[in-house]
Amino acid sequence: MSWLPRHSVLVPVDFSDASREAVRVGLELAEAPANVHLIHVLPPLDSISPGVVWGDITDERRAESVRAFFREFARREGLPAEVTLVVRIGDPGLDVAEYASECGADLIIVSSHGYHGIRRLLMGSTAERILRHAPCPVLVLRRNDEATG
Ligand code: AMP
Repeated sequence: MSWLPRHSVLVPVDFSDASREAVRVGLELAEAPANVHLIHVLPPLDSISPGVVWGDITDERRAESVRAFFREFARREGLPAEVTLVVRIGDPGLDVAEYASECGADLIIVSSHGYHGIRRLLMGSTAERILRHAPCPVLVLRRNDEATG
């Protein structure tokens, strides 16, 4: 893998400080802001939750709210308007990889907790799942805001 500017860079975002840092790195490594894609994956609603059974909460409405929040996030972060913002409903590990294929990403940049051993087994790791399913190289940035276990 060369460290030349990437044609298409995908950054999964969970709105943490660490993923904001990953967005910054993505903008540095991409040829142009138009080649940067940010994705947030929203877990689907449980079909037996009260809001679904009795109310009018739908996955599409939730996704619309998150899209608005994402646009506001991009505005607050001062991101160029050419950056693509995507919201999907599903599993972050699988849907990030699927979108990476769709948008022809040649690099995914993700930040990760530095958990080890039993702590990682208990807490799981989204970064690890993304890495496992990714169709292209993944740059994992170690988070500074979490202690290792
Ligand atoms: P980890 O600390 O290994 O669980 O991975 C956290 C990183 O995974 C975050 O910084 C994001 O880059 C990514 N991530 C976690 N949840 C989501 C999500 N719902 N949608 C998109 N990316 C996510």
